[in-house]
This record gives sequence, structure tokens and C-alpha cells, in this order.
Amino acid sequence: MSSIVELSAVQLAEAIASGEVSAVQATEAYLDQIEKIQPQVDAYNEVLADQARAKAAETDAALAGGKTLGPLGGVPIAVKDNMCTAYGKTTCSSKLLADFKAPYNATAVEKLHAAGAVIIGKTNLDEFAMGSSTENSASKVTRNPWDTSRVPGGSSGGSGACVSARLAAAALGSDTGGSIRQPAAFCGVVGFKPTYGRVSRYGLVAYGSSLDQIGPMTVDVPDAALITSVIAGRDPHDSTSADRPVDDYLAEVNTPIENLRIGLPDEFFTDALDPEIAQAITKSAELYKDAGAEIINVSLPHSRIDADAAGNLSSYAVACYYIVAMSEASSNLARYDGVHYGHRTEEEVDGIVELFSKSRAEGFGPEVIRRIMLGTYTLSSGYYDAYYNKALKVRRLIKNDFDQAFEKCDVLLCPTTPTSAFGIGEKTADPLTMYLADIYTISVNLAGLPGVSIPTGVGTDGLPIGMQLIGPAFSESKILRAARMYENISGVTRLTPEIARI
Ligand code: GLN
Repeated sequence: MSSIVELSAVQLAEAIASGEVSAVQATEAYLDQIEKIQPQVDAYNEVLADQARAKAAETDAALAGGKTLGPLGGVPIAVKDNMCTAYGKTTCSSKLLADFKAPYNATAVEKLHAAGAVIIGKTNLDEFAMGSSTENSASKVTRNPWDTSRVPGGSSGGSGACVSARLAAAALGSDTGGSIRQPAAFCGVVGFKPTYGRVSRYGLVAYGSSLDQIGPMTVDVPDAALITSVIAGRDPHDSTSADRPVDDYLAEVNTPIENLRIGLPDEFFTDALDPEIAQAITKSAELYKDAGAEIINVSLPHSRIDADAAGNLSSYAVACYYIVAMSEASSNLARYDGVHYGHRTEEEVDGIVELFSKSRAEGFGPEVIRRIMLGTYTLSSGYYDAYYNKALKVRRLIKNDFDQAFEKCDVLLCPTTPTSAFGIGEKTADPLTMYLADIYTISVNLAGLPGVSIPTGVGTDGLPIGMQLIGPAFSESKILRAARMYENISGVTRLTPEIARI
């Protein structure tokens, strides 16, 4: 493992700006790591080696010419393959978009460019970001760098595995119901989902438009703070992007929060939770307490998670999420018709309707088809009120619970996942068990709030355990500072799996 790939994005940017490491050296160090480890982990759909090398050389030339680099000058960053890039492909890990070349860059990608980053590749995901294990990808199955017989989580599993195995300094993911935080927990990295509207969704291929949000996956909290500052902000191309100033989250991140009030939601600590994870979260709460924080019990009744005698989990939030997300998905995915772009059937067809249906049936994978069908059902006349409208009411109740909890505390501390990373193939037979992998993360998307997952250490099974901090809307700075406090007091940060240390 070269010493370059051991650096965080913040450190690498400093080393490049000061001339200690050249941008070309940085890119070559990552390409070398990719060559050795990608075959075992399969985090990337596409490595953009030529373009990364060219950009790195350009960066060095700019530096030699006396230019000041941006805050990510020369730092290799990976992008989830559901964000448009005007180079390479944007496949969403779907057969339907297998050859799709986007005509423009997503705003978040454009902002990374403007900050000087080197985009080194596009990472694997569950098809159209629908899943929790990256096994729904039509491209490949990404493996967890901590144990390659296990999943990296999903849907941003490629980005999680990539950062964990040091195949990029940092990555972008997207989170509709947990897709940044859950793979971050499984892969032992930091994953931050900002407030809905904090980062533009322009150029992010839409899944559930009222839930989707782009965010960073990084080795530590300062990196997440820097990248969030870079990608956040109002964008005229996305009417849901918030018109609020963006703070310099990195400058504030090391300032501890005085009199921090941490809420533990009672309903998240039930029999549904793996005892070792429960213990890890309790220990984190104690560490915060020793550092002067106040620990308060709060209640999120509509997000309650239960387990029956057979260990089956249930929650209103999951039911609500899967109605809202699938309804929105069925509408968003209507655009793939085999006419404008994407896969078109080569079979003889009798008219336009058959062209649509054959192209779609051939292009979409089984999970995406299931969701389009369910979402079409919940939006259809006669069922709209019974399902979709009812789900929106439940969504409001879930949000109200959070608002009330935040009257008593600054941030909530809870698990990210009910278990550590599960085995490849373990949950593919039963979609419902797969949906439950997001049981601790989805209410945050329903309420539009920011949430971060950070590692608490490694469990007895040798796999990382994540913890989640949730804050009120636009409390990015507060959550990141609280997360950084944990890194500082626990000393747990930058976990590296054996596979990366070659
Ligand atoms: N696993 C959840 C789903 O399948 C969340 C996915 C995501 O956040 N993109 O919908």
C-alpha cells in the first residue's frame, strides 16, 4: 500500500498543493492500487485511467505555472455510476443504459471538477439505486473489502468498497433510503447524506425524487465536511435545491460542540437490533457523556422497529418508504422507452406500444420491474388514496416525531444497520428481507433530514459496525462536528481492511 493512498482527501490535497506529492503521482498510486485490488473487490464499473492521467498532468502544469489549486486539487475521486458524466458511460448498472453516454455533467460532478478533483472512475450500484447489497447490479457483484464473501451494502456499494479498499481518495454516493449510510457502515467508512435540497440532484438519475440526495463517502469526517462544502448549494437546474448559504464545514469540523445534547430514540433499541451493535452504540453514548454531552431518551413512535418471535423485523417507516419510493420510481422510470435513449429491442414489433414494452422488459432487471409494477399499482386510480395518499400521511407523522425529538436534543444517535454486512446471496431470494436492511436509515429520507454513518470499530465477526447521527434540517455543520468529536474521543477513524494493505 503506497503511503499516498493512506492519506485522507484533505491530507492529499495539502500534499499536492505544497508540492510534496505531484498530482500525477497521486493518480498513479491509485491506479496501481486499483490494478491490484479491483479484481478481488469489483468496485468500479469503469476506471477512467486516461482521463484521470490527463487531468493530473494538467493539475501539475497549473501548479508549476503558479496557479492556486482548488480545495480538491489533484485528488482522485470516484463517482457512483448513476451520476451523469460527459465522459465515459453512465449506466446505472442497468442493461437498459449499458451504452449510455450522458451529454452533460451532474452539478455535483461539475463542482468536483471546479474544486480541482480528478474523477478516476464510475462505481457499481444496485440497478437504478434499487437495493441494499449491490447484488441487483446488471454489471457485477461488488464484494466487501473486509470479507469478500460478503456484500458491501447498497446501493452505493461500489463507492463504499472503493473508499474502504483505497481505490479512490473519496467517492460520491446517493441516498434515497440509506444508500450512502448503509454501505458506509458495512465497509467501515464515513457516509454522509445531507439535508434534502442541500446538494443539487441535477444529473443524478432520478429514483425517488422527493428522497434522493447526493453525498460523500470518505475515510474520515473532515473529508466528508470538505466534499459537502464543495458539492452543496443552490442550482438553477434543480428547483428543489436550497437557496441557503453553504458553510465551510471543514473549517468548523474540529470545534467540539459544548453542552451537546444527544437523543437516543427508544424505538430504535428493541429486540430487532443485533446485541453487539446495540452495545457499540451504548458505548459511543458513554464516550460522548464522558466528554461532557448530555444523553437524553427521546421517542420516534412512528419509526418504531419491532421483531417478532421468528426475528422478522417490521416498521411503519419501511412500509411508507416502499410506497413513496416505488410510486416515484414508476413515474421516473417511464422515460426509458427505447426511443429517446437506452436499450431498444431488436425484435420485430407491432407498433409503438410493443416497442416500449419489449424494450423495457429486456432492459430492466427483475427488482426494477417489481418496483415499477408496485409503484404503478399504488398510483393507480382507486388505490391512490388507499396507498399513496396514506403513505404521505404516515410520512408527515414520521417527520413530526423528528421535529418533536429535536426540541429536546441537538442530534440523535442510533444504529445505521440492524446487522453487520451479510453474505453474498443471503437475502436475494426474499426481497422483503432485503428491504429491511434499511430499517434504521429510511425515516431520515422520509423526513428530509441529514444523517451520517461513521465507524465505531470492528465486531467479533471481523466486520465494521457503523453508528448514525441524525440532525434537524440544514444542521450539516452540527452533525459533522458531533461526528468528528466521536472520532477524536474514541480514536476510531480510518479503518483499513487487510486487503487494502498490499
Ligand atoms: N435500499 C433502499 C431501496 O432499495 C434504498 C436505496 C437507496 O437509498 N438508493 O430503495
